[in-house]
Amino acid sequence: MFSGIQDTSSSVLIVDDAPDNLDLLQRLLADEAYEIRVAPNGEFALRAVEANPPDLILLDIHMPGLDGFEVCKLLKSNDRTRDIPIIFLTALNNPEDEGRGLTLGAVDYITKPFQAEIIKARLRTHLKYVHQRNLLEQLAKLDPLTEIPNRRFLDEQLENEWSRSLRSGSRPLSVAILDVDFFKKYNDSMGHLMGDKALIAIARTMTQILSRPADLAARFGGEEFFILLPDTDQAGAEMIAEHIRKEVGALAIAYPDASVTHHLSVSIGGTTALPSPGIGYNELIERADANLYKAKNSGRNRVIWSSFLAGEDE
Ligand code: GH3
Ligand code: MG
Ligand code: MG
Repeated sequence: MFSGIQDTSSSVLIVDDAPDNLDLLQRLLADEAYEIRVAPNGEFALRAVEANPPDLILLDIHMPGLDGFEVCKLLKSNDRTRDIPIIFLTALNNPEDEGRGLTLGAVDYITKPFQAEIIKARLRTHLKYVHQRNLLEQLAKLDPLTEIPNRRFLDEQLENEWSRSLRSGSRPLSVAILDVDFFKKYNDSMGHLMGDKALIAIARTMTQILSRPADLAARFGGEEFFILLPDTDQAGAEMIAEHIRKEVGALAIAYPDASVTHHLSVSIGGTTALPSPGIGYNELIERADANLYKAKNSGRNRVIWSSFLAGEDE
C-alpha cells in the first residue's frame, strides 16, 4: 500500500582504497546523522549501489581495478543509478581531471588534502537537493486533499499490475470504482468544507481496510475513488468492496436531507479479469464503470461486480 510521504535519513557511500581515508571520513561525518557505508574499491562500490542505492557517493579516483572515473561513467549510464549525486574526493589536483570528473556528471570535485568543513558543507548542500527532489517526486503522486495516491500514480500502478498479471498468465486482477451517493446535494447543503471532510474520511476508511502491500486506493477524480487489488479473485475483491461500503456507512456521516438518506453512502462497481494480450486495462475500467452505473440505478449504497474474461461478453 502507498504509505504517504516518507522522510528517511540520508545515506552516503564512501569509496576509497585507503583504509585510513575511510576511517578519517567516517569519523568526520559521525556527527552528521547520515547512514554511512564504505567500499574499498570500484567493484565493491558498484555492487553496494546495486544492492541498496545510497543518496550520495563520495568517490576516490585513484584505485586499483576500476578507477573512480570508470565507476562514475558506469553509474551514469544506468537508469537506476544515474540520479545519485557523485562527489569526487581525490588527490588529483589539476583542472584537467576536475573537468573530466564534472563532465562525466559528478556534482562536485574536492581535492585532498581536504578541509573538514568544506566536505561537510558540500555534502549537506547536495543531500538537501536530494531530499527536495524526493519530496517533489512523492508529492507529485499524492492527492493534496485526501493525501492518498492521485490519478497519475494510479495509472502507473495499473499499467504495472496489468503487465505483471499478463506475464504470470494466471493471476487475476480486480479493480473497482467507488462513487459517493447524492454528494452534490450534501455539498450544496453542508458546504464545500464539510464535503471535503467527508471525502477525507472516506479515503481514510478505504486505506485502512486495504491491507496487502500491492493493494491501492486512489483518488480517481471529484468524489470518485479507485481500488486496485492485484492477485485477488472476484470473491475476495467483492468482500473487500463490501467491507468498505459497510465501513463508510458506519462512519454515520449525517445527511442533510432525510428524504434522500440518513447517512452518506457509497456505490461501488467492480470487475475481476484475467489479463490477456487482446485486451487492455482500459476495458477493465469501463467494466467497473458500467457496474457502478448499475449500482447507482438499482438503488445506490451497494456493490455490483462481474468477472471479465477475454473474448467473453457477459
Ligand atoms: P450520485 O449518487 O448519482 O453519484 O449523485 P451525486 O450528487 O454524488 O453526483 P454528481 O456527480 O452530480 O455530484 C458530484 C458532486 O461531488 C459535485 C461536487 O459538488 C462534489 N465534489 C466533487 N469533487 C469535490 C471535492 O473535491 N470536494 C468537495 N467538497 N466536493 C466535491
Ligand atoms: Mg461522480
Ligand atoms: Mg456521486
